[in-house]
Amino acid sequence: MAASTGTYVGINCKCEGFTQQDALQIDLAAGRAKQFATATQQKLGSWGPDVIAALKHHFKIDTSKARGIGTVYQDNWIQYIASVYRKMVSDFIGGMTYILGGDWNPMTWPGACSGNPAFTVRVNPKAIHLNRSFVQSGSSGNMWSWALLHEQAHFASRNSPGGFNSIADYAYFDDTKKYLRLSTDQALHNADSFTNFAKELLDPGFDWDRETAGY
Ligand SMILES: [Zn+2]
Repeated sequence: MAASTGTYVGINCKCEGFTQQDALQIDLAAGRAKQFATATQQKLGSWGPDVIAALKHHFKIDTSKARGIGTVYQDNWIQYIASVYRKMVSDFIGGMTYILGGDWNPMTWPGACSGNPAFTVRVNPKAIHLNRSFVQSGSSGNMWSWALLHEQAHFASRNSPGGFNSIADYAYFDDTKKYLRLSTDQALHNADSFTNFAKELLDPGFDWDRETAGY
């Protein structure tokens, strides 16, 4: 017998269409994703050597090289990065809704994340969709939390001028060669740059040199 599904209101989010067991796990993962966003925002204010390295890796911002007007640009970029994490935190506090995707192939939908079995529609999103393959992938470690953080970056950028989410997918971290070639402007509008910037600062298992070896 299939487990019953419905709307589950958890501590961190509302889940629609999932089994209660999956909804509980998603709620836990959303809670951790919220912690990741909060901790990243705090770290950004600390200016530690880890922050300086991660800014260079994921946003191509080299704080040691800025001179004159360049420092103004850098300050603006860093303010903007902080504002994205701040928006993620406030969206979590406001209450997120996660909806189970159907059996159709949502990869063909605008806003689909090919590197992530989840998607956020590009225009005026009200919720984040998680596909069946997301649920079936299992919630080992913090995998779901990082995937939710990726979607949260798209979601945080909604209602930008023109109506589209301003944070898109220019390159996934797994596509390392392409990821390393992103310009600062592209990285500032790339969901995986926000996810992996946070990962480098917070996940002791993330080793930049090892992850990018061979490129
Ligand atoms: Zn994406």
